[in-house]
Amino acid sequence: MKTTKVAETSLPTAFGTFRIFGFESEDKTDSLLALVMGTPTTCAEDDAPLVRIHSQCLTGDVFGSGRCDCGDQLDFALKTIGERGSGILIYQLQEGRGIGLMNKLQAYELQDSGHDTVEANHHLGFEADHRNYTLCAEVLRQLGVSRVRLMSNNPRKFEALLAAGIQVAERVPIEIAPSERTENYLKTKKAKLGHMLEMV
Ligand SMILES: [Zn+2]
Repeated sequence: MKTTKVAETSLPTAFGTFRIFGFESEDKTDSLLALVMGTPTTCAEDDAPLVRIHSQCLTGDVFGSGRCDCGDQLDFALKTIGERGSGILIYQLQEGRGIGLMNKLQAYELQDSGHDTVEANHHLGFEADHRNYTLCAEVLRQLGVSRVRLMSNNPRKFEALLAAGIQVAERVPIEIAPSERTENYLKTKKAKLGHMLEMV
């Protein structure tokens, strides 16, 4: 898939100043943001840059929702990259594991009546996880990165990057301590989606 860089500019944040890129697939069906700090290329001395792939979660990222740990994971990843002075955060515009915001809210309704996140998606006619990582891998390549230290607990992300030809040199865990509200959500992630979580 051909990928177009739509824009590149600077983004000062609470965690330091990043270069922010907008990328779009050639057929314009997919787009994402890349927040880059330092010069994380595979040619550099640090030959496997720290990379976090975060999927948009409006409720968690913007409103600090207690239903999931997305907002805390986003802050943790940006803080870690900021402290290190080097790394990449890919922000995928794939809300609700790819089912979209309105469907995600409907899934929340189902969860209110006792379904877990995976069952709720199935009820609505979706798979448990609809995300794809094709554009993400293309963008990493375009940024000069073919080897990463991936900050993730999600085995699907490792498989997807490997399948797309990006090597994963190391897994860097990103685990937020469960709260009373997120405990069941995290248990489902671990039991049904195979997430590598130690605290639940
Ligand atoms: Zn979330």
